[in-house]
Amino acid sequence: MSISTNTQGAQGGGNNLALIASHSHISGLGLDDHLQPKETSQGMVGQLKARKACGVILKMIQQGKIAGRAILLAGPPSTGKTALAMGLSQSLGADVPFTAITASEIYSKELSKTESLTQSFRKSIGIRIKEETEVIEGEVVEVQIDRSLTGGHKQGKITIRTTDMETVYELGNKMIDELSKEKVIAGDVISIDKANGKITKLGRSYTRARDYDAMGADTKFVSCPEGELQVRKEVLHTVSLHEIDVINSRQQGFLALFSGDTGEIRSEVRDQINLKVAEWKEEGKAEIIPGVLFIDEVHMLDIECFSFVNRLLEDEFSPIVIMATNRGISKTRGTNYRSPHGLPLDLLDRTIIIQTENYSEEEIGKILSIRCEEEEVDIHVDALHLLTKIGTETSLRYAANLISVSYLVSMKRRSALVEIEDIKRSYLLFLDSSRSVAFLQENESHYIDDAGRVSFGTSS
Ligand code: ATP
Repeated sequence: MSISTNTQGAQGGGNNLALIASHSHISGLGLDDHLQPKETSQGMVGQLKARKACGVILKMIQQGKIAGRAILLAGPPSTGKTALAMGLSQSLGADVPFTAITASEIYSKELSKTESLTQSFRKSIGIRIKEETEVIEGEVVEVQIDRSLTGGHKQGKITIRTTDMETVYELGNKMIDELSKEKVIAGDVISIDKANGKITKLGRSYTRARDYDAMGADTKFVSCPEGELQVRKEVLHTVSLHEIDVINSRQQGFLALFSGDTGEIRSEVRDQINLKVAEWKEEGKAEIIPGVLFIDEVHMLDIECFSFVNRLLEDEFSPIVIMATNRGISKTRGTNYRSPHGLPLDLLDRTIIIQTENYSEEEIGKILSIRCEEEEVDIHVDALHLLTKIGTETSLRYAANLISVSYLVSMKRRSALVEIEDIKRSYLLFLDSSRSVAFLQENESHYIDDAGRVSFGTSS
């Protein structure tokens, strides 16, 4: 019996080569409407407590209730910390910025550590700018309400057709109800007054034109005198604070947004932008959306970076910072102090910690089976059992890496189905870390040591 079907494997050759990232099977946190984690959903398996905790964080982010908070995902290697962050990012709306970095990235030669961190923080803050445009023009229009989009209840669209243009607006449920109340139905003809944009239904008059705020994302019906309806179009742009910085930085100019070569941005530029954005917010022209900055392998930051992160978290425009680490009690870089997860105590103190735990054999089996499907690899059920056993005894990551290798081994013997023998062969071909360590200990004398010497087998 095979687990997944595959006629043209992803690695199947030639032009079918598809690159599959290690988290590409994750499409969300796998929660139900009450934020309860389903055992297996959206590519996520087990890790229920941590997923539930991430769900609560997700809700708070979506409601705009938190900013400037630090969350630490802590747990042994391969327990899904990065997968959880990816799941969270998938569940956020397209408008909520999500930036992912690995702590070691900030040690680049081009930017100072503090500049690099500041840019990452500001990339994670969205500014939604509102802009009102002209009212719609046209003489005679035809209104169509299409309820078929989602089974006739949740959504619909309205098509306004004039002699020289056709505009389609997505409608919310409430808007459809209102239009129905006013007896505007498919095929009705209404007119728009060119001068003031007022819409009047021809042949039948509106008796109770009201506020129609429920119109789709970017269109608003505003209240107007009886018998008339006025359409205004509101356009929303969402940009990140960092994009505004780059565009306003004279040295770089907006082209740097494409090259990524932004250089250092002066703090005066940022101060001015902060003031301007605060002003827009006051005037109701802009809305600030605190997004998420994910810092993987956070123990790679040093004490200077940690103290800078502490300061940035107190900034007026701060995102939610999610950090991940697999370290236990270890040295904080740049100090001689050992602390939990290698984080200084003052930062740890302001951090909410979400713990991830090792997987059971059954969960490892499910994750590996999902990975086989994702990589479009057909695997015999006995081969999957063996792979699961390897995953439990070595690591989930090592077992997952054997999938594509075993597939190539099976292809070599002209079979599209991975069997036990293929897994065994790839297990012997490629070492996991503990076998590699054992091998090194046995053969230490053949390798070059720290002092650059090799003992050629002579024991000391
Ligand atoms: P490390 O500490 O070594 O960085 P990690 O905790 O970040 O590890 P991941 O990289 O998230 O671990 O997980 C390893 C692999 O297993 C990835 O391919 C990931 O997508 C997958 N994985 C981990 N946990 C789950 C899960 N609960 N459901 C589905 N896939 C998972």
